[in-house]
Amino acid sequence: MASKKEEKGRNIQVVVRCRPLSTVERKSVAHNVVECDHVRKEINVRTAGIGEKAPRKTYTYDMVFGPSAKQIEVYRSVVYPILDEVILGYNCTVFAYGQTGTGKTFTMEGERSPNEEFTWEEDPLAGIIPRTLHQIFEKLSTNGTEFSVKVSLLEIYNEELFDLLSPSPEVNEHLLMFDDPRNKRGVVIKGLEEITVHNKDEVYQILERGSAKRKTASTLMNAYSSRSHSVFSITIHMKEITIDGEELVTIGKLNLVDLAGSENIGRSGAVEKRAREAGNINQSLLTLGRVITALVGRTPHIPYRESKLTRILQDSLGGRTRTSIIATVSPAHMNLEETLSTLEYASRAM
Ligand code: ADP
Ligand code: MG
Repeated sequence: MASKKEEKGRNIQVVVRCRPLSTVERKSVAHNVVECDHVRKEINVRTAGIGEKAPRKTYTYDMVFGPSAKQIEVYRSVVYPILDEVILGYNCTVFAYGQTGTGKTFTMEGERSPNEEFTWEEDPLAGIIPRTLHQIFEKLSTNGTEFSVKVSLLEIYNEELFDLLSPSPEVNEHLLMFDDPRNKRGVVIKGLEEITVHNKDEVYQILERGSAKRKTASTLMNAYSSRSHSVFSITIHMKEITIDGEELVTIGKLNLVDLAGSENIGRSGAVEKRAREAGNINQSLLTLGRVITALVGRTPHIPYRESKLTRILQDSLGGRTRTSIIATVSPAHMNLEETLSTLEYASRAM
């Protein structure tokens, strides 16, 4: 019989990635306080002072990636197995969670190497989104399945929904969301643009269209990039003919989510009250934490309905789905408080 941990391990996986020190951090005193052990899946944090005797805390996760981990390693270990489930027809989600500036976007989208040294396809800095789309085409074109791939890019800012792929030049028009009358666990987002991707070369134009809109949104909405959640969804329709000549359609969905900076949820009660007054409490981030805690604890009531993000992801969280949370942290002493808070959050999801 599978133990509870093994059973749970199949559904929610928690991974931590620590980025390299930045130039600014390198100049600060007592700079590096984080050590990562990929083999033991441990992360060790020096919580005060320096030297051998300094107090430390150790956390264990499903996987730990240190500053030298490459984009391809993170993709292969975390996303590749999930993609197999998606192709079998399940809905899955990968989240990047962490303080602003710790590598959520670097992990999910990635970057371009300078001087156009590489094509998009070969760029070692490419993140999860482009790698996943490429892989879908590679995998499905070679096994002879008839398939189609659609993507959408939705962002949630201050509990309002914005379509980053809509053809309209406006960015501050928000979308409305309703319960789906045909699907108990789903929602319909009225007017959300879903773009069919015909081949892997189209991927980058789509991503660039999204980033152009995001740039505009950042000029219109205060702290947009740190407070918004970005949900990139890939839906795959696959058609097979069974041996009895029947047509079998399988639909799988993968959500790749770059969350708002985790500094947007207050920790102690006092901070929370002040943050709430300032309008800085991020309802979606707060509710996501509660939903994950409820899923891990197997509570009967999962508060999906309490935020836009969790309503949108309801059909891809819990039940027969797989979820990966990639918690990103900085190694620097100056970010210690946020790092500990991220690691605690990640531990609660284990
Ligand atoms: P976030 O989206 O969490 O705010 P970013 O992804 O924008 O953070 O990363 C902040 C900075 O750190 C960027 O300049 C990015 O290039 C760099 N960075 C993040 N993660 C890594 C990494 N694993 N390796 C190298 N540079 C990284
Ligand atoms: Mg970012």
